[in-house]
Amino acid sequence: MQRALNFNAGPAALPVSVLKEAEKNWLNYNNSGMAVMELSHRSKDYEAIHQKAQDLLRNILSIPNNYEILFLQGGASLQFSMVPMNLLTEGKTGNYVLTGVWSEKALQEAEKIGSTYIAATSKEQKYRSIPDEISISKNAAYLHITSNNTIYGTQWNQFPSNEFIPLIADMSSDILSKPLDIENFDLIYAGAQKNLGPSGVTVVIINKKLLSNSIDRLPTMLNYNTYAKHNSLYNTPPTLAIYLLKLVLEWVEQEGGLNIIEKRNEEKAKILYDCIDESEGFYIGHAEKESRSKMNVTFNLNNDDVSQKFLQQAKEAGFIGLNGHRSVGGCRASIYNAIPVDQVCQLAEFMKAFKNNN
Ligand code: PLP
Repeated sequence: MQRALNFNAGPAALPVSVLKEAEKNWLNYNNSGMAVMELSHRSKDYEAIHQKAQDLLRNILSIPNNYEILFLQGGASLQFSMVPMNLLTEGKTGNYVLTGVWSEKALQEAEKIGSTYIAATSKEQKYRSIPDEISISKNAAYLHITSNNTIYGTQWNQFPSNEFIPLIADMSSDILSKPLDIENFDLIYAGAQKNLGPSGVTVVIINKKLLSNSIDRLPTMLNYNTYAKHNSLYNTPPTLAIYLLKLVLEWVEQEGGLNIIEKRNEEKAKILYDCIDESEGFYIGHAEKESRSKMNVTFNLNNDDVSQKFLQQAKEAGFIGLNGHRSVGGCRASIYNAIPVDQVCQLAEFMKAFKNNN
C-alpha cells in the first residue's frame, strides 16, 4: 500500500514500522487472546507497557530521577489550566512569553486562575520571531514558553535559564525532535499527536520540587500529585495511546536516538528552507531566519490566487495537510520525526516544478 504524503500538523504521520508492530499485535497482545485496548489497566501485561514507556522516555531524554514522568489526558490545552492551578500560588505572578496562538491560549487560561504578566511578546511582528529580551515580574511563580510555535513556524533555539525562576515549556510540537537538557526546565508538557504517538495521552515531565506547590483542595484529577503518587494509574489511563507511545519510543531507540533524529530533522528543514530561499521571492517564508522551526515550515506565495492554485495542485498531486492553520492562512509543511527525508524531497521537487510553471 502506498503511504500518504502526510504533512498535517497533528494528528500527524506515525512511523510505518510502529503501525505494523501495532497491527501484528492487534488481536492478540502477548498471547493474551486480547487486544491492548481490552487489557485491564491493572493487569501485568498493561503495567509492563506503562512502565516500559516511562523507562524509554527517561532514557531517551536523559530525564534525571528528581523528575516525575506523568501520563495525563485532556491534551496540552488542559495543561494551560493545570499549570497555573498547581503552580500559580497566592501572591505570585505567572510570567508568559507570547510567541503565537498557543501561548496566548496558555496565558488566557492562567488569567482565570491568578495574576499574570507578559514577559515578552512578538505579536507586533506577526509572531515571525522569538523575542530576544525577557523581563520578569516581581514575585514570579514561573516563566512559561512555547518551545515550537506550530502555527507560525517559529522555534526557540536557546532557552532562558531556570536558575532564578522555574521554566515551564509547552513542547507539544517539538519534543523528541532533538536532545534536551531537562534540568534547564522545571515542567515540560506535550500532547502526543505530533512526535510522540496518537492523540489521547499528554506527557508531563515535572521536577519533584514543584509537586509540593499543588494545593490539596484542587480537584483530584487536576492535581499533579495525584498522578505522581499513583504512577499515573489513579484512574484508567489512555492505555492504547500509551502503548503506541511505547512503540514510538522504541522506534526512536532503533533509529539511533535523538542525535540521529535531530540530524535528520535538520536535513529535512534545510531542503524546504533552501527551496524557499532559492525561489527568488516566489515562496516567502513566514518566520525570520534565526527563528525558523525545524518542525513546521510556514510560507506564503506572492499572490493569493497563485497560493490557492498551489494548494489545489499540491492536493491533486497527493500532498496532504499543506494549508496553513485556519487562523493565519498561507501554507505549512509539518515535518515531524516520522516524515521520511524522501517525502520532503518530493515536496521540494513539486514546489520547484510549480514555480517553474507559474
Ligand atoms: N500547544 C501547541 C504548541 C500545539 O501545537 C497544540 C496543538 O496543535 C496545542 C498546544 C493544543 O494541543 P491539544 O490539542 O493536545 O490540546
